[in-house]
Amino acid sequence: MGTLATLCVPGAVDHAVTVAVCRTLRDLERRLTVNGPPSARAGSQVEAINASAGERAVEVDPEVYGLVRAAVHASREHRDSFNALIGPVVKAWRIGFADARVPTRDEIGRLLGLTDPADVELDEGRCAVRLARPGMRLDLGAIAKGYAADRAADVYREHGVDNGLIDLGGNVVAMGSAEEGAAWRVGVQAPFRERGAVLGSLSLRDASAVTSGVYERMLEVDGRRYHHMFDPLTGYPFDTDLASVTIVSASSMTADLWATVAQRGGLEAGLAAVRARPGIEAVFVTRSGDVVATEGGAALFIPAARAVPDQAGA
Ligand code: ADP
Ligand code: MG
Repeated sequence: MGTLATLCVPGAVDHAVTVAVCRTLRDLERRLTVNGPPSARAGSQVEAINASAGERAVEVDPEVYGLVRAAVHASREHRDSFNALIGPVVKAWRIGFADARVPTRDEIGRLLGLTDPADVELDEGRCAVRLARPGMRLDLGAIAKGYAADRAADVYREHGVDNGLIDLGGNVVAMGSAEEGAAWRVGVQAPFRERGAVLGSLSLRDASAVTSGVYERMLEVDGRRYHHMFDPLTGYPFDTDLASVTIVSASSMTADLWATVAQRGGLEAGLAAVRARPGIEAVFVTRSGDVVATEGGAALFIPAARAVPDQAGA
């Protein structure tokens, strides 16, 4: 998944459980990835759908079908912020990879014509997916880690492990509680600072927190920085005053989805969108370093103790 996964369970855990969770994560990656060398993509059902774009429908397993359907429906609902059909645009930029580049305006314009979520045919009975036009590409990158984190938690629970912390590179699921019944404390990364420097932490019990930040993967060309979350309407990185969005939700997939949805239009629009949606809370960090949370988000957020107190000497 292009990131480091960390699994943390308080107390003793049977090694077989850890193996089962890791197997689940690897298996999902294998079936969903659209990155890496051809050998890594050979087992990917999403790549099989992409390879048949403009041609035939591809049957996938029910789990992959369910995830694709959720992604396509979310893309239709959030057309101006989240679009899993953004694949051709993502592929052209390749941000996060050594061969990243800035595509020409013409190229982006042409590729945007291949990103309409209405051009996906879903066949529920056969669990089959057809992309109507050649060159279309599904990319589940903005929700796959959230989905995988939810499944990892399911596997733990099936094995009787109810307390633990699953962290797939910033997609966190806090199961149950930490040691001695205390809530888990999940740090919110300080954007543009070294990994592990936090602005504060969220107190979580049986909840997921997912952060998407413009600082995570980027390309710098001629003094301009381009990040990896694209405005589906322009094909360019979201033009935003936000450095990061952290979403808290019971479902990690929902949190992952909304961490991208809430990027649209910057702080004001993102805050309004999250407030209007029941079941999710958010902590926004602006590029100037301000932390702004929804009411529910603020109730969970504990700011880091400042190195230099405000009232030093008072
Ligand atoms: P990460 O955890 O890697 O930062 P995000 O959840 O922020 O991932 O999603 C970014 C990834 O999603 C990109 O690398 C790309 O594959 C894909 N993507 C980029 N922009 C969009 C978008 N507007 N809608 C859906 N997927 C996107
Ligand atoms: Mg996301």
